[in-house]
Amino acid sequence: MFDIIIIGAGPGGYETAADAAAHGLTVAIVERDQMGGTCLNRGCIPTKALCRNAEVVNLMRESEVWGLKIVGEMAFDYAPVFERKEAVVKQLREGVEMLMGVPGITAIKGEATLKDANTVVVNGKEYQAKNIIIATGSAPRGLPIEGADLAMTSDDILAMETLPKSLCIVGGGVIGMEFAAVFSTFGVEVTVIEYCKEILPPFDKDVAKRLKTVLSKRGIKIITSAAVNGITKGDDGMTVTYELKGKPQSVTCESVLMSVGRQPVLPQGLDAVGITVSRRGIEVDDNMMTNVPGVYAIGDVNGRMMLAHAASAQGQRALHAILGKADDIKLDIVPSAVFTVPELAMVGLTEEQCEERGLDVTVKKAFFRSNGKAVAMNETDGLLKMIVDNTTRQIVGCHICGAHAADLIQEVVTAMNAGATVDLLAHSIHGHPTLSEVVLAAVKQF
Ligand code: FAD
Repeated sequence: MFDIIIIGAGPGGYETAADAAAHGLTVAIVERDQMGGTCLNRGCIPTKALCRNAEVVNLMRESEVWGLKIVGEMAFDYAPVFERKEAVVKQLREGVEMLMGVPGITAIKGEATLKDANTVVVNGKEYQAKNIIIATGSAPRGLPIEGADLAMTSDDILAMETLPKSLCIVGGGVIGMEFAAVFSTFGVEVTVIEYCKEILPPFDKDVAKRLKTVLSKRGIKIITSAAVNGITKGDDGMTVTYELKGKPQSVTCESVLMSVGRQPVLPQGLDAVGITVSRRGIEVDDNMMTNVPGVYAIGDVNGRMMLAHAASAQGQRALHAILGKADDIKLDIVPSAVFTVPELAMVGLTEEQCEERGLDVTVKKAFFRSNGKAVAMNETDGLLKMIVDNTTRQIVGCHICGAHAADLIQEVVTAMNAGATVDLLAHSIHGHPTLSEVVLAAVKQF
């Protein structure tokens, strides 16, 4: 009997397996596909490899700024970009495969089915454990519209070896906007159709608008408040029909990407074990335990927050519960980012959420154009918005659009996690010249 069986080897599953083994527990990890899950094979990592290529192409487009003279016409070839992405994924996957081979961990290849609260069946063989952690992740969600099957998913677009001339992206969320930015930089004519009033609905409106302006200037056509209702295929390519302000409209393109969110992947046997599932995913308590004692569900499958680092943090919480160890991981202080150029990043509440909750807060902004390092980097397009509670002076939220936003937000995450006041950041010496001085410029205003 193992101490823990983990189903699914994404960032939730494999990091928890490694941590559990480091604590001296015996772990079996079952994976039906490739080690690393969505994040490593079809998510965070391949997209960020492409984002880096896009960043370099953007820099080359302004080559004169960097003193480079392009002799002849600058040409772009997707084949080496695709190969680089594959190589990055392979290298990191091999690292996870090695990690899952350390003493204490038994990796099992196959599809896991739950039999009871202590038994998992894989390839007809039964494995038993004191605890089970379900970390089966999520898969792309579709839209119930005619022709939905003509569209690619994020999995398909990452497997595509040649670029289409034009691409219509249904859904202007994080995944949709990252692909929009990347493929438009690679020369694809991109149209994004978003149902909500603004792209990136969970992000601060000012920050999302700023990104929209930058990307629109770069040639991406962004249509908001539009409801897509069908996709058809004809001699001219694909036609996506949508309704905008009550009027039927359409866009014709070579390919369509559907990126309207993700849904949990549920292993078989949940009913047999009596595990409660809602529309969002497997229901869990604050320790990530399901309604069945000893069975936990972490990461995308519980639908709480579909981010890789959230999956890993939830795995740690479940492991600590199993070990009976106190744990002060604050699962509600989670940074999220959009890896476009410029990047977006956020943590905590938005200004709108503060208003809805009637919180007494002050909002201050700082701009990248006043930051020495940003000017030296030619990355002056950006803004940082800091939200602070007027009574406690604690940081309630921070929203950034600008170069390296995803790295800059981490300082604020740490401060929020420590329950620090804004004064702690204001009194911390920030190196010069660094982009982190944008954070300092904001907090000094309180
Ligand atoms: P997954 O990574 O989905 O892993 C689940 C694993 O379980 C899979 O390998 C699957 O094969 C396996 N499995 C499922 N059912 C069974 C079964 N019955 N038996 C055995 N194995 C099973 N997040 C970020 O934080 N940052 C990003 O930049 C980011 N970019 C993304 C870009 C894209 C295009 C996508 C699609 C996602 C992105 N995400 C990003 C989200 C991130 O990938 C997920 O939040 C994360 O992978 C969730 O981890 P997980 O461990 O819960 O599940």
